[in-house]
Amino acid sequence: MFFPESGEGRDLIVFDLEWNQSSYTPNHRMPHEIIEIGACRVDAQGRVTGTFSRMVRPRLYRRLDRHIRSVTGITEQELSEGDAFADVLADFSAFCGPDALTVTWGPDDYPVLRRNAAFYGLRAPFAPPLDAQLVFGFACLGDAHRQMNLHGALETLALSPDMPAHRAVYDAQCTAALLPAVERAVSALTPQAREELFALLDRERRIADSALRSSPTRHQTHAQALRDRAVTAVCCPVCGREAALTTPWFDSGRERYLALAECREHGVSCAQLHFKRAASGLLIMHQRAYLAAEAEAQDVRARYAAYLAEPPRHRRRAGGKNPT
Ligand SMILES: [Zn+2]
Repeated sequence: MFFPESGEGRDLIVFDLEWNQSSYTPNHRMPHEIIEIGACRVDAQGRVTGTFSRMVRPRLYRRLDRHIRSVTGITEQELSEGDAFADVLADFSAFCGPDALTVTWGPDDYPVLRRNAAFYGLRAPFAPPLDAQLVFGFACLGDAHRQMNLHGALETLALSPDMPAHRAVYDAQCTAALLPAVERAVSALTPQAREELFALLDRERRIADSALRSSPTRHQTHAQALRDRAVTAVCCPVCGREAALTTPWFDSGRERYLALAECREHGVSCAQLHFKRAASGLLIMHQRAYLAAEAEAQDVRARYAAYLAEPPRHRRRAGGKNPT
């Protein structure tokens, strides 16, 4: 059901990550540093048949963010006794096995895993996971984008696994505990609703495989930054080579910029860009590009046409009329 392409009888790996960050001196190549990987293996009957739980010794951020320390209960002492990321990733990959079918709660873990792996010159050991939070939202709450937290979801389904929250392996097990009820809700969907769900999951997996770029700029205004090729260049999410812009960057509303770019080999990507301001007053750019379905590319072209149709003064002031 969850993996219509996979056939019956394969185990699932449910995983969860904890990560740390620095508000003061972030490294833009790895803004979130994984400090714990937790996972459990679930068989076709929904039983947990194995667990994985490891601490990662941080290289960038050795001081724990206060919020993360209070939520997870992890201490700096524990972290210093963890293992190097590359070793934990290799062991996690071995735990998953080849062609792992993976599940997470929410869309955030996989991009963080990919970025941490890339920081060390490694690759994420599997394709993007299934987002159980999205499936739960769609099938149990009637809203795929509700993003209810794990605790709320357990309450909604009247499940109360007796486990301490917010440690990676326990969150993975709580997610596993939800799967049978979520799966029942999915099988009760109409064929049309199920198709809609699979389209959303497909889109989310493409977004999880985005080419991500974050970097400080030397600019104070968006207009300056948008003339800088170091900011505007888009990488193909499949091969990493520069893709040619087929629309210019334009403000799609609230200073979030969109563009389309094409790699000859891998096709059209939808690119998104926004800026934050560093303490220095200079802009930091955050960009993502993901392979676009034809309807998504059409949508960006239509937004660009609408943007061009607006009077320039209005464009500057309100930044376009499309809210996303
Ligand atoms: Zn390419």
